[in-house]
Amino acid sequence: MTERHDDRASFAQPERKNVEEPALLVALHDVTPAHAARLACAELLLSALGLTTVTYLYVPDFHGQAAAHDDRAFSAWCRAPRPYRVEWFLHGYFHEERESERRARPTTPGHWFARTFLTSGEGELLTLRGRALQDRLQTGIQSMACAIGYQPAGFVAPAWLYNEDLIPVLRRLGIRFTESHFHVFDLQTGEAIPTPVITWASRTCAHRAAARMCASVERRLWRRKPLVRVALHPADFDHPRIVDSVARTIETLSRTRRMISYHEVAQSHSRGLG
Ligand SMILES: [Zn+2]
Repeated sequence: MTERHDDRASFAQPERKNVEEPALLVALHDVTPAHAARLACAELLLSALGLTTVTYLYVPDFHGQAAAHDDRAFSAWCRAPRPYRVEWFLHGYFHEERESERRARPTTPGHWFARTFLTSGEGELLTLRGRALQDRLQTGIQSMACAIGYQPAGFVAPAWLYNEDLIPVLRRLGIRFTESHFHVFDLQTGEAIPTPVITWASRTCAHRAAARMCASVERRLWRRKPLVRVALHPADFDHPRIVDSVARTIETLSRTRRMISYHEVAQSHSRGLG
């Protein structure tokens, strides 16, 4: 757990609490040809809600079975115009912890907890380190350049699980933004911006009921937070009651918040620091 939660260790500057006006970041996770039909449902909702900017998290080869860079139809879909701006980030490579890598590395109690309670085998970067981590992300960047035509400005670890090697590797690769469960990080300025995230777990009936209740509480609980994230997953769109909760959450938050991209978060902060 320390690997995941000690997420400000690489940052020299203290947290900043002043985004210029209340803002909302919306991200669509797990953008891969494996979820094409669900992503189409997600886009219908995002368009209907009148969003102005959304961050898409691209997975190069979901579970080793959906190589996005080899899929021409998917590449054309990625490049198609949308009624909102899309900011593309990289999101792991396989989006699962490879069995061979899991067996090759020692498992700590923190890893066990994370694997058991925080994800269902999706923690690809939980134990991946050093050169192997850098090579994996470099290959992901190449995949994205091939499918979409440019380099990602940001990276989000699958299930927000990673170790302390990630930040230095991202810096070496020239990636500016990343995030944890609790913060958005600007690697260029060294800022850790506190940003709670509302997300929905959809694995079981109990998860879905709890997620809908949490979203309802968090909408109120975090109303005074300068910046809030909403993270959507393709599986959310298999469940109409989750979709209702997603729609209500985005509608409620966008009444009082400006929708922004990660680049605009960084600009707000630099203006706020004046
Ligand atoms: Zn994901």
